[in-house]
Amino acid sequence: MRVKRAAKYGFCSGVRIADLKVKRFVAAGGRGAILGQVVHNERVVDEMARLGVRTVDEIASVAEPTIVFSAHGVPPSFHQEARSHGLQVLDTTCKFVYDIHRESKAALADGYHLVFIGDPKHREVIGYTRDLDPGSYHIVSKVAAAETIDWSQFRKIKIFYQTTLNSADYDDVVHAIEQHGGSVERGDTICYATKENQDAARALSRDPEVDVIVVIGGKQSANTKHLWEICREGKPAYLVQGAGDVDPAWFEGATTVGLTAGSSTPDYVIDEVEECLAAIEVPTISARRA
Ligand code: SF4
Repeated sequence: MRVKRAAKYGFCSGVRIADLKVKRFVAAGGRGAILGQVVHNERVVDEMARLGVRTVDEIASVAEPTIVFSAHGVPPSFHQEARSHGLQVLDTTCKFVYDIHRESKAALADGYHLVFIGDPKHREVIGYTRDLDPGSYHIVSKVAAAETIDWSQFRKIKIFYQTTLNSADYDDVVHAIEQHGGSVERGDTICYATKENQDAARALSRDPEVDVIVVIGGKQSANTKHLWEICREGKPAYLVQGAGDVDPAWFEGATTVGLTAGSSTPDYVIDEVEECLAAIEVPTISARRA
């Protein structure tokens, strides 16, 4: 079967740098543990564990000399907490995430009420909000939730997006806030890497040569799920974590399969899946019937 990769896919610069920083740290003899998955991809987490850098859920569980903070970032207080446990910090927070930390802090100091569009359980969003006064911000992602809040009580509002969202999907939520609030500003915080992968996935889903699309990424990766949703708008699309998940039955009658991957998917997994797809000999529908 012919495989056509999207024009942009896979590791973004932030994840690539985080991965590299941890590998260099290990190569230099460093011993550490990562707080939460370094990226939302089980293969990468397993690879890190094989290198001797295990994943932990809380700072108190770290017995190694160094704690690694992932590309998603952490609440600023985690740095002090790590130090209070006698730990050194290897910080792999993406610079775009740090931009939002910086901009939201400045907006707060300027008297804005903060609104984060995103998932309150996502580590990136927890990083922005956990240390803040609960009265100084809201996290919303649904119009219904936005409409329950009296935004007119806030003189100035500044909206920030979780980096991996598609801003167009949240226009209704932002309009709901803009209708009721006074001065509302939007921060330009969607990550270009996410947008490029999404635009390329959209192009793939509209490509007349492509019959089916395979999207590769971790089960917990929000940006991979978004890519899959985009692809499904135009073609049958399947989400896999690796070559082992590929089912040849998906490709009956197909000649070309589109391929894309979330920003936490390492290159070697993409290569493996491509090889697996290219090796599939697809029976045509008429050949099967005969
Ligand atoms: S998706 Fe964007 S913001 Fe997130 S780690 Fe990658 S480059 Fe950074």
